[in-house]
Amino acid sequence: MHYTIFELDQYRNHAMSWFRRTFCRLHLLHCHRCRERLTRLRLDDMLILDLKKSEQKMDIPENPLEYHRLCDIFHDEMKEHKSTV
Ligand SMILES: [Zn+2]
Repeated sequence: MHYTIFELDQYRNHAMSWFRRTFCRLHLLHCHRCRERLTRLRLDDMLILDLKKSEQKMDIPENPLEYHRLCDIFHDEMKEHKSTV
């Protein structure tokens, strides 16, 4: 039995009861797979933080239209990136 991403997210955000948390921690101690997934959740967090920081740096205009245009550009780049892999 492995933990789901949802459960690992709960563990990470301290949304689990201490009882389940203890079990989860024990599982993580010897389960490489769940540890990897937990690490990936943390990396996602860092990525989001990074995006937020770069947003601030880019000084995104208040105008929502401009903002959506930037989102579209970003989205297209993501798609291109995926198709090249
Ligand atoms: Zn596991």
